Amino acid sequence: MGDRNTSLVNTEISRAVAPKAALELYERLLDSGVILPELRDDLSLGGFAFPLRDDFRGLDDLEDWRSPEQAMDSHSPGHTCITAIEIGVTGYRWHIGLTGRPELTVQPGNNGLYMNFDGGFSVNCPFCRSAVKLGADGSEGLYEALNAWHQNPESSLLRCSSCNATVPLSTWQSENQEFAAGHLAITLWGGNLLGLLFRPSSASAKRLRGLFAGSSGIEPALVFCLV
Ligand SMILES: [Zn+2]
Repeated sequence: MGDRNTSLVNTEISRAVAPKAALELYERLLDSGVILPELRDDLSLGGFAFPLRDDFRGLDDLEDWRSPEQAMDSHSPGHTCITAIEIGVTGYRWHIGLTGRPELTVQPGNNGLYMNFDGGFSVNCPFCRSAVKLGADGSEGLYEALNAWHQNPESSLLRCSSCNATVPLSTWQSENQEFAAGHLAITLWGGNLLGLLFRPSSASAKRLRGLFAGSSGIEPALVFCLV
């Protein structure tokens, strides 16, 4: 335990088109020299993931940023902390197909919820930004919404006790980057790539977001976890 990861989550994609988009995302990461084509189950706590290529250095300057003011030249990582990238699709799992290539099959496992474990998480109302922290007073509705998401994500609604808005759980995100719900995501295992948050205009941040979004142009929710 004590592993860190970083997730980029598409909170807008429908469950129906997520598997096809995931295969396209896999091809983009492969063709761009980010990952190796093989599935490994010993590189992440999350299960099957694709190893990061040793010669891909495009994540190096996204590591270890603590604030926007941190000077560029104060940062010089010796190596990339990320070891593997997991591509998450709600209700699907990766496996090696008969042709030797990774394929997706329907299987429970990935539930489309990305959340911090150690220290918990809070979510914010998309309208008034009020926070609800899991486990705190007034978080019963959040527990119910999480349970409802497991049964049927589309019917999972959460009401804000401050402004009374009742909206899908996936539209609630976390201002502390601790939670997101969505049907397609990548999780980079081995570190919190805070540069995505603090240096969003850097070449590396733009490239990673671009690889994730593809032609859809969506802005992913960021989730930084300590597992
Ligand atoms: Zn609200």
